[in-house]
Amino acid sequence: MTATATHPKLFTEAFTSSGWVKAPNTFTVYSPSTGKAIAEVSDCTPEMGQQAIETALEAFASWRKTTAVERSKILRRWFDLLIAHQSELGALMALEMGKPVTEACGEVLYGAGFVEFYAEAIKHHTDDLIAPSFAHKRGMARTQPVGVVYAVTPWNFPLAMITRKVAPALAAGCVVINKPAELSPLTALFAAHLWQEAGGPAGTFQVLPTFDPVAFSAPFFADERVRKLTFTGSTEVGRILYGQSAKTLKRVSLELGGHAPFIVFGDADLDNAVTQAGIAKWRNCGQTCITANRFYVHSSVVEEFSSRLAAQAAALNVGDASSATTQVGPLVEAAGLEKVRAQVADALEKGATILTGGNALEGLFHQPTVLGNVKAGMRILTEETFGPVAPIISFDDEQAVIDAANDTPFGLAAYLFTRDLSRAFRVSEALEYGIVGVNDGGPFALSPQAPFGGVKASGMGSEGGRWGLEEYLTLKYVSFGLV
Ligand code: NAD
Repeated sequence: MTATATHPKLFTEAFTSSGWVKAPNTFTVYSPSTGKAIAEVSDCTPEMGQQAIETALEAFASWRKTTAVERSKILRRWFDLLIAHQSELGALMALEMGKPVTEACGEVLYGAGFVEFYAEAIKHHTDDLIAPSFAHKRGMARTQPVGVVYAVTPWNFPLAMITRKVAPALAAGCVVINKPAELSPLTALFAAHLWQEAGGPAGTFQVLPTFDPVAFSAPFFADERVRKLTFTGSTEVGRILYGQSAKTLKRVSLELGGHAPFIVFGDADLDNAVTQAGIAKWRNCGQTCITANRFYVHSSVVEEFSSRLAAQAAALNVGDASSATTQVGPLVEAAGLEKVRAQVADALEKGATILTGGNALEGLFHQPTVLGNVKAGMRILTEETFGPVAPIISFDDEQAVIDAANDTPFGLAAYLFTRDLSRAFRVSEALEYGIVGVNDGGPFALSPQAPFGGVKASGMGSEGGRWGLEEYLTLKYVSFGLV
């Protein structure tokens, strides 16, 4: 769908079990496109966090007793409302974190898709009977909700990274306290408003923004009654939170950073490879965890692929994210832009060449950039870029490119392009990644049923599909002795 001029309603207070609550102080949310202030948002305190835990426990006592069908109905209404407010949610995202509004409206479909999926999935969920070893015994493997969940989410998918966690958790009978990213609290608060409109009981889903995530989070890590942490964000922060969760032995799911290789073999369909490269690279200005960070292209096609990708990049419309014709918006903040500039400068110093772009523009914008002649030792080949830069490396040998692709601490997404079926299997099996796109640069397009998750420093656990539900269920074996 295309964007509309709808001006979304702004919810700026914390959404708690008592409804909307003001924090003692506020923090400012700015538009990355214009640099202008958009809203003053409640800066929740650790005391408010502790209060949210207490009320979440009360809500859990009754929510866990509702039937799957009852929970499904409320989730389904939430899905309908998210879809009905697609243009407002899309406009909000564009405003607060700079995702082009047309793309942001697409995220609403993707994000709402998890709510629809889990509203259905929980009705199909079944427990197991265990084969008895004795005639007088019967066994059951039952699933029950984990309990109170603390969900810490990033700014780059301000809706979908919340619904991918909250929908399966609520479906399972858990209750959730979400701490949205300080750069994108408005989308989260709007989604919470719609949960309330859908009839979501008080305290089942609370959203508390804060500008001090460290202090705010402390009560959650100290409290053993918070049974699970689900985190999406950087590997650096994920490591810290994993350590902090150990004290109270929380269940943990971590969706962390990536450094995706995009491998184009000599026999690939180049039209498709270039189109898919565009999907994997320029979406959200390169600020996605599964964005293609390094392009390995076989020497027989590297020249053609490079010039076609450069032409594609040069034709992109860069501009204010709220405009319906924008394809590439700004970086989300100055530190992100600085990282992109530093990586490009480092690559150029070490011998890379600019095939298109190469420069930062006014404000937080950066030209979509394609670099040629990229070599080992350049920072861009090891650090997550999170920006609109495509470095191209030429290769000759299949095993050498597999080794290069795996030579990273990360293991989230990888892509490969070939027409050779045997090679597609061989290489996809050899890649140490949780997600592999074969001739596919957008493996998750409208696919809440697919498992999303990484290995190595990209995290643990899965979101999406039946696996995403299991993260919020505990298993209980009940053995009956018949007398
Ligand atoms: P970030 O790690 O800086 O922040 C993520 C969240 O953690 C934010 O809500 C932030 O407020 C909070 N946070 C930061 N420090 C904290 C602390 N000490 N205690 C408690 N909370 C803390 O990441 P970001 O910049 O918001 O997001 C970008 C990163 O997220 C990238 O590395 C990207 O690859 C990753 N990401 C991963 C996935 C995935 O599914 N694997 C999806 C989207 C983004």
